[in-house]
Amino acid sequence: MPHRSALYSQRSLVLTLVALLGAGFLATSLLSYYASRASIRDSIVNTELPLTSDTVYSEIQKDLVRPILISSMMSRDTFMRDWVVNGEKDPVKMTRYLDEVMTHYGAYTAFFVSDSSHTYYHAKGVLKQVRIDEPRDAWYFRVRDMKDPYEINVGPDLANKDNLTFFINYKVYDYDNRFIGAAGVGLTVDAVIKLIDKYQQRYQRSVYFVDAFGRLVLTGASGGPEGAHIGHSLSELASMKSLISQLPKPHSGSYEYSAHGQGHFLNVRYIPELHWYLFVDKREDGALSDIRQSLYLNLLICLLVTLGVLALLNRVIRRYQRKIQTQATLDSLTELPNRRGFDLLAVQALHEAQREPKPLTALLLDLDHFKTLNDTYGHMAGDKVLIGFARDLQSCLRHSDIVCRWGGEEFIVLLKDTDGDTAQKIAEKIRRHVEQQGYSYDGHSLSLTVSIGATTLQADDTLHTLLSRADHAMYRAKQTGRNRTCVEMPHSTYA
Ligand code: GH3
Ligand code: MG
Ligand code: MG
Repeated sequence: MPHRSALYSQRSLVLTLVALLGAGFLATSLLSYYASRASIRDSIVNTELPLTSDTVYSEIQKDLVRPILISSMMSRDTFMRDWVVNGEKDPVKMTRYLDEVMTHYGAYTAFFVSDSSHTYYHAKGVLKQVRIDEPRDAWYFRVRDMKDPYEINVGPDLANKDNLTFFINYKVYDYDNRFIGAAGVGLTVDAVIKLIDKYQQRYQRSVYFVDAFGRLVLTGASGGPEGAHIGHSLSELASMKSLISQLPKPHSGSYEYSAHGQGHFLNVRYIPELHWYLFVDKREDGALSDIRQSLYLNLLICLLVTLGVLALLNRVIRRYQRKIQTQATLDSLTELPNRRGFDLLAVQALHEAQREPKPLTALLLDLDHFKTLNDTYGHMAGDKVLIGFARDLQSCLRHSDIVCRWGGEEFIVLLKDTDGDTAQKIAEKIRRHVEQQGYSYDGHSLSLTVSIGATTLQADDTLHTLLSRADHAMYRAKQTGRNRTCVEMPHSTYA
């Protein structure tokens, strides 16, 4: 019972330690994970996405400022105005002028649309006549009627294989401030698309433009969210449902939403020149996968360390336990088993001998006049003799025999597989050996004798009955003069 409760308390100690260690590791790993996650989210929302948005915006501005300037100069150009006021004679002059503007300033296209003739001139010649009922020409009539001096329009360029182009549409007035047409340059949006693609690929974020109604107006080469093309409305996309619910119409700001169970961070910025909104979107898992991986690695290391500590602890406890057990069953002076050790071994030996059955003989040995030896030469001398006697006793026995220090100067031997006669011979051998051996201490030669009682195990014996018979025999040996062996049979006794 005490053994079991010790085992239980050891187990609970190990479990508590492992639980504490595991909980500590888990807590620090999770804390550092959540702390880095918060700081990564913070840097994405407050730094990364706005920075991308700034860069894309400044790229657009850079691309737009120059063409706006060129278009403004065209609208004020005296040649152009004179040529129109003088009746648009010799269109070659106009196309040469437009070609000069286009090539010199590196524009994608340069154009003039006359309000009186509705002729669309561009760098390579006369393109067409604009018509109010033609949807593609709607831009011209919008420009004609608008109050602002110019607009920026994005649309396909008819003169250039319908490539998506930024047009700067400037109003041109004659010297009496009468509207005479629209002039300007076009600029391909390739540069902006390339920039969008670069950001999308290199930094794992989606970049696209949306108009005030939530329609995609400009995306990277691979399209917008879910690969949606220009013209699609965000509200048509399943992945945008959660965003649209909090942002029915585009509005500048930072947002978080989920699409198909994935968290997204979004930065929206209004581009006043285009009346568009720039969306920069980053998926949460892409941003956090690195630290999630390091969390898993951390947890794995914690698990391994915990298991290692568990194994080590177990080993140390087992070793310590074994040491204590051995110490508890050994006599510290002679290093023979003590009475507790003997009990464990003897029960087993008796059980085996009775079951087989095989003879087993017990010897009880008591040193003669040991008190006198102690009194004469001191306790240390007595100890030394006890150690020497134990060693000599063992030297007279087989390895399989059980020998123990019963207490004081008394020893017990269980001779396995040995009958009374053989045992008596062994006992006599021991007695003679001790008698002849002689021990020395501090220059003194100490002689020693031993009285031995022997008895053989019977079928109905217990350890107690066996030992009391051996005790009787030893008592008789003392009574009959010491330094002798007496044998006690269960019912008959003889010396
Ligand atoms: P007898 O021949 O009748 O056995 O006489 P004895 O003196 O040996 O017997 P007694 O039982 O009177 O004395 C035993 C002595 O053994 C007494 C005790 O001081 C001594 N003794 C017991 N244990 C130790 C020990 O560990 N070391 C030493 N030095 N002496 C011990
Ligand atoms: Mg004694
Ligand atoms: Mg004695």
